[in-house]
Amino acid sequence: MQDNKKNNKPKVVILGAGFAGIRCARNLLKHARGETKITLVDQNMYHTFFPSLYELATFHVSGTKEGKRNEFHIAREMSAIHLKNIFDEKHVDLVKGIIENVDFSTQEVFLRGGRILPYDYLVIALGSETFYYGIKNLEMFSYGLKTIDDAMNIRDTIHELFFRKDPQEDIHIVVGGGGFTGTEFAGELMGYARRLARMAKRNESKTHITIVEASSFLLPGAMERVQVLAKERLKKLHVRILFNTRIEDVEKDCVIVSGGKKIPHDILVWTAGIKASSTLSHLTGVDFKEKSCLAVNTKLQLPYENVFAAGDNSYCIDPATGTALPLTAPAAISHGEYAARNILHLARGEDLEDFTFSFPGFSVPIGGKWAIAQYKGFVICGFLGWFGKELVMLQYFLSILPFPKALFHWLRAMVFYMRND
Ligand SMILES: Cc1cc2nc3c(=O)[nH]c(=O)nc-3n(C[C@H](O)[C@H](O)[C@H](O)COP(=O)(O)OP(=O)(O)OC[C@H]3O[C@@H](n4cnc5c(N)ncnc54)[C@H](O)[C@@H]3O)c2cc1C
Repeated sequence: MQDNKKNNKPKVVILGAGFAGIRCARNLLKHARGETKITLVDQNMYHTFFPSLYELATFHVSGTKEGKRNEFHIAREMSAIHLKNIFDEKHVDLVKGIIENVDFSTQEVFLRGGRILPYDYLVIALGSETFYYGIKNLEMFSYGLKTIDDAMNIRDTIHELFFRKDPQEDIHIVVGGGGFTGTEFAGELMGYARRLARMAKRNESKTHITIVEASSFLLPGAMERVQVLAKERLKKLHVRILFNTRIEDVEKDCVIVSGGKKIPHDILVWTAGIKASSTLSHLTGVDFKEKSCLAVNTKLQLPYENVFAAGDNSYCIDPATGTALPLTAPAAISHGEYAARNILHLARGEDLEDFTFSFPGFSVPIGGKWAIAQYKGFVICGFLGWFGKELVMLQYFLSILPFPKALFHWLRAMVFYMRND
């Protein structure tokens, strides 16, 4: 079944409604409404707002049964932003479907079930997924933190654990990886675990949270001062960190690390590896780089003039440093903007622009209203850092939503999750 070609405006098909795909569609609408026909395809009818997944995986509900149901609904809604909340379907064709392949010669995208979408311009923005480095049994015995369902599963499993396990027995939660996701999750988890221990009438000292990190520092890519501050903060929260320790095998109730030592776990959350979407492996006539990302030129094009790759699934060199850009929301947003600009240049017969990017800095929340913000060599931590992190969240919401909706989502999420701190 092929979508008909009656409309003769150039068709832009965007694969993936993440930060890159949404930003690209929004910029095309902003700068060329009516000039192109935009189709946005995703397996979900919502955008997964990753920066709040660690909150979703550790949020606490209270009150009546009915109240709890509402709170679950609100929490989910805050990390799963419906695409109809972002786009007017009059302007963007929203397609729910699993992308299976692309034929670059006939300019067609194939969806599971047989639907075919023809395109004049294509943006591939399929993001990334959890990667296990071939570590034995890791996938089988661990939870990833890459989808809404992952976050809800982690939350519910930990909740159940506190009420199921004999109060005399210890609870062991192991986090694989001390990168940004592992660090912020472990920090927030301690608050959640304390509440659960109180509710389940367990001794708080019987809960053990351990980060297993292969290198000798946390937060790769951050300034050394930030890495040290993060380590101290986690120590204060009683999170144990095992540096220079590599997970080599996993059993149902323990992880086996370098040297053969066994570390018990009731739940293991793996945050240490990502690679580009496995859908890309079906593509032919393209080059792959580190983490199975698509190689792009300085204009973000694949070896086909009318095909661009944006966000986590593209391997892009930061022109300022000559190294690969980290897989972050700001980089994805910027890719989306450039892809939109270059599509319009192509359509109008103009010269294309080279991608440039200036890394704005970051913030990493570590438990409660406490975060470290690093911005152009300056570091702030504590409550001020947390406030900086909230401003960054607002920026992320603004990158995908119109201003009033972004403000609403931001305030709602801030107030909702503040109760957990
Ligand atoms: C837990 C977590 C927390 C994070 N926190 C931060 C943070 O605080 N700050 C920051 O800068 N970065 C953060 N990141 C990284 C950041 O979220 C990513 O770099 C960013 O989301 C990449 O955007 P993207 O558009 O490339 O991909 P994504 O946002 O991953 O979007 C890809 C889209 O493609 C869809 N898709 C994939 N395959 C298919 C298919 N075959 N068919 C149909 N649809 C498909 C997916 O459903 C998804 O909607 C975090 C990541 C995680 C996992």
